[in-house]
Amino acid sequence: SAKILPKPKWLKAAPATSPKYHELRSTVRELGLATVCEEAKCPNIGDCWGGGGGSHSHANVVDDPELEHYGTATATIMIMGDTCTRGCSFCAVKTSRAPAPLDPEEPNKVATAVTKWGLDYVVLTSVDRDDLDDQGSEHFAEVVRRLKQLNKNDAVVESEDGNKRKNLIVEALTPDFRGELPLITNVATSGLDVYAHNVETVERLTPRVRDRRAGYIQSLNVLAHVKTVAPHVLTKTSIMLGLGETDEEVRTTLRDLRNNDVDVVTFGQYLQPSRKHLPVKEYVHPEKFEEWRVEAEDVLGFKYCASGPLVRSSYKAGEFFLKNMVR
Ligand code: SF4
Ligand code: SF4
Repeated sequence: SAKILPKPKWLKAAPATSPKYHELRSTVRELGLATVCEEAKCPNIGDCWGGGGGSHSHANVVDDPELEHYGTATATIMIMGDTCTRGCSFCAVKTSRAPAPLDPEEPNKVATAVTKWGLDYVVLTSVDRDDLDDQGSEHFAEVVRRLKQLNKNDAVVESEDGNKRKNLIVEALTPDFRGELPLITNVATSGLDVYAHNVETVERLTPRVRDRRAGYIQSLNVLAHVKTVAPHVLTKTSIMLGLGETDEEVRTTLRDLRNNDVDVVTFGQYLQPSRKHLPVKEYVHPEKFEEWRVEAEDVLGFKYCASGPLVRSSYKAGEFFLKNMVR
């Protein structure tokens, strides 16, 4: 059987204990929502939901004084249920061929929760719904539209350089919709600000890491298509390290992403959610993550790269956007 590597000290995250964590958790329960933080067993949950400032808090109030007047609160909500039709070998989300039907009230519930929390940056993500005719594209788009509609009369915030932006920024971390262009277009033009779709790993490892219906080229095509139909929407992707990829393969992946106009990339350490999941091949050192950040931003020209062992797709998304993309 595969040898289990010991976890290095830099991967120890704070436990989830604070009152803010419990407040978010109870609203999530009350409204019957799911969060990726919980479903994917994200190690940052105590920090992110706890609010008030761990080094990588982004699901809550940011402790950067420069951003304080924006009230940068962010959370990641998982829509379309907690059960996925796919089974990626790295992922802890429950799977089934026939998940429960979509909740038609979900767009309202999500908008209510976001309003109640006073968020101004929300990340929506979803399971894959291969069981539905449109794979959930219209439902996803409706959640975005409802969120934007509910917040459209809110105050416009002005940044130091005089730029104005809408009050609620929406990022969507989306399925591949099997590469079906109209389904991607529908979400890309729903009014969102950031369209994220993860390649997860390098091309060679894709068949081992992701569900067989996913594809490296297909995911690149998804991201490229978003830019053609919604050029002002930021595109973003995430890569897990520690699955056995080589440096050269990572570099090739970065180039492929830039060649497809991807704006933002994040790197995080793959963590094995249970013994049934893919084993970790390597715990990549924090310095190596920093090297990838420099290469992505300074050499390849990504607009932004978050890179570190505990970084997840939505990590500091709000902070980045408000600092760099204010409009
Ligand atoms: Fe949730 Fe993202 Fe924070 Fe993880 S990093 S706890 S997924 S908000
Ligand atoms: Fe997890 Fe894969 Fe389903 Fe996404 S598509 S929720 S990574 S099993």
